[in-house]
Amino acid sequence: MINKNKYTLGTERSAIRELYEYGKKQAELIGSENVFDFSLGNPSIPAPNEINQAICDIIYNRSPLETHGYTSAQGLLKTRTAIANSLNNRFNAEAEPDEIYITCGAAAALCCIIGALTIDNSTEFVAIAPYFPEYKVFVEQAGAKLRVCKADQESFQINFKELEKAINKNTAAVIINSPNNPSGRVYSEQTLLELSKVLKQKSDEFGHTIYIISDEPYRELVYENITVPYIPNFYNNTVICYSYSKSLSLPGERIGYFYVPSCADENKALFAAAAGTGRSLGYVCAPSLMQQVITICTDVKPNIEEYTKNRDLLLSELTSYGYECATPDGAFYLFVKAPNGSGAKFSEKAKQKNILIVPGDSFGCPEYVRISYCVPYDTIMRALPYFKELIEC
Ligand code: PLP
Repeated sequence: MINKNKYTLGTERSAIRELYEYGKKQAELIGSENVFDFSLGNPSIPAPNEINQAICDIIYNRSPLETHGYTSAQGLLKTRTAIANSLNNRFNAEAEPDEIYITCGAAAALCCIIGALTIDNSTEFVAIAPYFPEYKVFVEQAGAKLRVCKADQESFQINFKELEKAINKNTAAVIINSPNNPSGRVYSEQTLLELSKVLKQKSDEFGHTIYIISDEPYRELVYENITVPYIPNFYNNTVICYSYSKSLSLPGERIGYFYVPSCADENKALFAAAAGTGRSLGYVCAPSLMQQVITICTDVKPNIEEYTKNRDLLLSELTSYGYECATPDGAFYLFVKAPNGSGAKFSEKAKQKNILIVPGDSFGCPEYVRISYCVPYDTIMRALPYFKELIEC
């Protein structure tokens, strides 16, 4: 006897993974130089030098147990201390190491928090479309329901009329992601003030706390002088799910954390329930080598120059051909209106030219496609003529 629901999850890949796997097969057939894979947010830009130096230093100079052994489930104290210090220096956060739990990336952090807040199958979480498609999987596997409301389709800021309609007595949390995958937009202070107001009102109305789960893998990846507001400064009942996958180009190394600030209601119980969720899922601990790397490299900066070059090239060329899209403030995605109105059809048409771009359906916006530009500059240069042909034909 096999669990049908899990079977489906294991056999039906996400649209993003489907394209990525297709791209790998195509590359074997026609050569990787002829496949333009803009599907996955898998940074091709190397991890900063400090990371590689730290890895070598740890491997050659520390004991095997320290390098590869189990750590406590919550993570090494020195790593949590380094993270807390960094949050305090940068955001005046008043974070304590015991409020931080090291995880295998943001995905595991999200699963821990969602699990902790799910009471039974009436529990609901709200996501704002466009949203990261795996939220649905994480929420449903916890036994809860994901309710989706659309962002403002011009600015990609929150549409509060839609949000208010989506919140009800069963809502445990609203999941936000800024800078956003896939729109690249950063929520403005104005948006966050309004969000805080609405969530306070709704918490009062329904007689329980409605949390913000702030999913922040792209927090450090912002362009020009844009700053990403620190969400707990706007709303106390915020939990942060963070990742080093994108900022430090370490997605395969699986390292991130959740942080439940002391200002959040029932913070200690929430933290314990999130830890318990991790335990029940068999997470054991995050990779110890990476925990040590992060202890040394907590404040290492991402290589934003490379992404800026990619963004500027893609944005200026695509808009000159007639494509419409919002200018990304951060992250490394361009969310483009499909010229024929259907993201799925346009993605299919692009696939015929070996341009792999993700239909917006998965993100809750079927009339768009997502182009992930964390690829070599040269890949974008060589793909541009095909993008031009695609809008002309
Ligand atoms: N949240 C968002 C918005 C993402 O884009 C991703 C990965 O693409 C994740 C979470 C998961 O990231 P991680 O590799 O840290 O698990």
